[in-house]
Parts: sequence; C-alpha cells; structure tokens
Amino acid sequence: LEEQFRQAQKMEAVGRLAGGVAHDFNNLLTIINGYCEVLLAARTYTNADRTAAEAIRDAGDRAAALTRQLLTFSRKAITEPQVLDLNEVVTRSVKLLDRLIGADVVLSTAPAQDLAPVRADPSQIEQVVMNLAVNARDAMPKGGRLTIETRNVRLDEGDEETYPDLAPGRYVQLAVSDTGEGMTEEVKARMFEPFFTTKAPGRGTGLGLAMVYGVVQTHGGYVDVYSELGVGTTFKILLPATTETEPRSRPDDRVPVKRGT
Ligand code: ADP
Repeated sequence: LEEQFRQAQKMEAVGRLAGGVAHDFNNLLTIINGYCEVLLAARTYTNADRTAAEAIRDAGDRAAALTRQLLTFSRKAITEPQVLDLNEVVTRSVKLLDRLIGADVVLSTAPAQDLAPVRADPSQIEQVVMNLAVNARDAMPKGGRLTIETRNVRLDEGDEETYPDLAPGRYVQLAVSDTGEGMTEEVKARMFEPFFTTKAPGRGTGLGLAMVYGVVQTHGGYVDVYSELGVGTTFKILLPATTETEPRSRPDDRVPVKRGT
C-alpha cells in the first residue's frame, strides 16, 4: 500500500508534467504543420524542396500523434472540477489512512457543520489530503496526533496582508496538523520544490508538496504552513467556496470517521 501511494504520487506528477508539456508542444506543432501546408500549396517548387517540405509535414504528423498519446496518458491529471463537499473527501481519505498510519498515531477529524461547497477535482483534492496526512505520519515516527479539520472562512478587506493572493470572500479551509518533529527554516524554504525530500531514498519522492502546491494553485487557493521544531506542523489550505448548489450528498458518506478523540 505504501509503495502504491508513492507510485501514485509519481504517476500524478509525471502525468501533470507530460500533460503540460504536451499541451504547449501541440500548440507549436499546429503552427509548424500549418506553415508546412502553406509551403506545400505553393507551386513554384524544385523536387528537392518539395521532398524536404513533405518530410517536415510527415514528422510533424508523427509528433502530433505522439502528443495526442501523451495527452491521453495524462488525462487524469487534467482538472475535472465539480461541486464538492470537502468533508466527504476527508471521510474517504480517512478510510485509506487508517491502513497507512501506525497504531501510535491517533487520527481524528473535525469536520465543520454546514461546510460551504467548493468547485474542485475530487481525486486531486483527495491526493492533496493523502499527501499531507502521510507527511504528517512520517513526521511522527514515535507516534502522536494527526488532525484533519475543515472550516468555513471569510476573508475581509485588509486580510490581504495574511493572504496576499486571495480576494476577499468566502473560503473553505482544510487543515492537516501533526504533533511531529516540525521543520527547520531550510526545509520550510524548499519543501514545495519538486524532488526535494529529507526522507531516506525509497521512502520519499519529494513530489508530495509540489503536487499539493500545484493543485491548490490551479484551484485558485492558498497554502499556509505553520511549523515549529519539536512541536509539530500545520498545513492550512484555503479553497474558494462556490455559490453553486450543494452536491447530491450520500448521507452515509457524510458521517465523520473518528479514531481516538
Ligand atoms: P516527501 O514526503 O516525498 O519527502 P514532500 O514534497 O511531500 O516529499 O515533502 C518534502 C519535505 O518536506 C519532506 O521530505 C519533509 O522534510 C518536509 N515535510 C513535509 N511535510 C512535513 C511535516 N508534516 N512535518 C515535517 N516535515 C515535513
């Protein structure tokens, strides 16, 4: 399960990268192939020039087929937002986490009542919760408390100082806290870098927080980190609340799962 989690993290990152590159590359190919067609349509060609232009067009067609394949492979990485109750995502993640955290870690959730919905990609948000929670677990090798909490938050004029990238309005906050080892200033400064890890080879990919950052950015949100050495770490994620109607909720899924208190 542990290996599956790291593999999923890698595939997500590679897919995201491939998707981004393929998309940009495809735009360039459209230009190349378009001008190539223009050249081929001209009649004043020597045979050698025509052969060269045809070779360019054929290579362009093959490149286009390749980028299409890449885009198909990375389709899962492309955001498919829907109206979402974050409490449901947390509940789903907790079921998986129960198998990933050791007996020494107490997991508890504090879901807000009447949590505003967000517009987000459910599998990406679930991956965000999982990445943060698994990091929290790794920060508590001797055990501790892992808390996942949701809240409605309202940002007013003047809160720009705390959240420079966010406009005033309604947000939903997801906080993942641990009572673990915390981070040094150096780690804090580099934690979002892809492939930055302090974990043993094979234990960390260095992709978890880069993915968290990327997903939150594409959803118009904000990541805040509080960490104190020897005390613990809290990641707070703000996502804009949506005014769209609530998703059809399945009552069973909304019951918060608790382990310990
Ligand atoms: P990975 O978990 O594979 O190392 P991440 O990008 O998720 O990659 O994390 C990068 C680094 O940030 C970790 O190696 C660790 O040093 C630090 N880190 C992340 N979350 C926490 C946490 N909750 N407590 C302490 N350190 C953390």
